[in-house]
Amino acid sequence: MLYTSTRNKEIHVSSCEAIARGISEDGGLFVPEEIPAISPEFIESLVGLDYISRAKKVLSLYLTDFTEEEIDYCVSGAYKKGKFSSDKVACVKKIADGANVLELWRGPTCAFKDMALQLLPYLLTVAAKKTVADKTIVILVATSGDTGKAALEGFKDVPGTKIMVFYPNDGVSPMQKLQMATQQGDNVCVCAINGNFDDAQSGVKKIFTDKAVAEKLNENGMMFSSANSINWGRLVPQIVYYISAYADLIENGTIQNGDEINVVVPTGNFGNILAAYYAKRMGLPVKKLICASNANNVLTDFLKTGTYDKNRKFFTTTSPSMDILISSNLERLLFHLSGEDDSVIREWMGELAQDGKYTVSDAVKAQVLDLFEAGYCDDKATAETIASVFKGGYLSDTHTAVALRVYEDYVKATGDKTETVVASTANPYKFSAAVLKAVGDSIPEGADEFEQVKLLVNETGEPCPPQLADLKSKTVRFKDCCEKDEMITKVYEMLGIN
Ligand SMILES: *Cc1c(COP(=O)(O)O)cnc(C)c1O
Repeated sequence: MLYTSTRNKEIHVSSCEAIARGISEDGGLFVPEEIPAISPEFIESLVGLDYISRAKKVLSLYLTDFTEEEIDYCVSGAYKKGKFSSDKVACVKKIADGANVLELWRGPTCAFKDMALQLLPYLLTVAAKKTVADKTIVILVATSGDTGKAALEGFKDVPGTKIMVFYPNDGVSPMQKLQMATQQGDNVCVCAINGNFDDAQSGVKKIFTDKAVAEKLNENGMMFSSANSINWGRLVPQIVYYISAYADLIENGTIQNGDEINVVVPTGNFGNILAAYYAKRMGLPVKKLICASNANNVLTDFLKTGTYDKNRKFFTTTSPSMDILISSNLERLLFHLSGEDDSVIREWMGELAQDGKYTVSDAVKAQVLDLFEAGYCDDKATAETIASVFKGGYLSDTHTAVALRVYEDYVKATGDKTETVVASTANPYKFSAAVLKAVGDSIPEGADEFEQVKLLVNETGEPCPPQLADLKSKTVRFKDCCEKDEMITKVYEMLGIN
């Protein structure tokens, strides 16, 4: 199977090349030229298998230039016993009639990003060996909080790689900041920027696609790659868990093979929900893809109207990993829905870069309306939902609560009783302050992150994952903060080139 660029269909590369490069030279994203199909028999064959075996079967449909041994090595390393706090890796829990959460945050950094970022370093090092053997891979990450830590943890001390993470100084939770600032490993660097996530993402994208920078790295035996969800190696592992969740629902008797399900995803960069779209396109019986946003509701508007307009107020919310106004992965969806029309994608992305706005064709809009439902909620509704869902017996983080609220609104509006999978994307202790306020306790003046954790444990009886509780005793290694236009200087500094 070959991959092409959303902005230039003349390009045909292997999955190894797509993963090693991260982004296409033309600024487009790599996409599979055909989407592989799965049959009901294929899905049936997953029932009863463990996550590693399921992942191998699904990934081998996309990574056709990896050998069976290579896929086995990658997947077995990424999801090996002990790395995730559930034997299922990603586990499905029924929380109400028709509602099942898919807990994707049981990995080392307590956010769903681990599902992909534990695997990506394996995929990337295998891919690099085949395509650019002698180069040091430099991973540049822009993060709204969770990707940064998950990428650092995935790539720390991986031979032949270096990783540098930029995050918005005032745009991440204290726990997220601590997780990154205390990161260990000899090949890692972390820097805050004065700006928001979109500034960080634009800055990284600009460095990536700057030919002079690429040349300089090349002279020094290095090349950039990406651990953001623009990298196909980030997306493909996420397709697995939707298919796996479906198999789990068959396994526990909730559905029968062939029954339709709905999928609800708290969305920022459109990566996680796009993976669900690929699963649907492959043949997984998904009825509606429900896209949940916070007050930064640019996607809600787009999915309802066909006009994407990022010219709006940016809100810093209690679900910071979704505080995004430019959802990069939408480009992949539009490429597929436009009949793989690279010229129209260049046009729309050009308009987005120039005016911050574009409107898709009627044909694309019709498909968007058919595939997706969309909704959003503000911080107040998020908090109310955490409280009401907790009363029902489930403690959710702020991002998951956004999805649960949007799902509740959807059911109220449509009466749709279809069995539903709601992606649960972070552990509540990553966002203790907001969760604690929501479940009813006021926070004593001056209580730090760890006192808040203690209060939340007392209040809810839910244990705090040790990797978060233990941050208290870790040394802060990274304190730098730079301006948006200084990012490249920081990168050169870290790499020791000038
Ligand atoms: C990254 C993230 C999201 C958004 O996922 P996208 O793939 O960017 O849409 C939602 N919730 C949490 C906790 C996250 O870390």
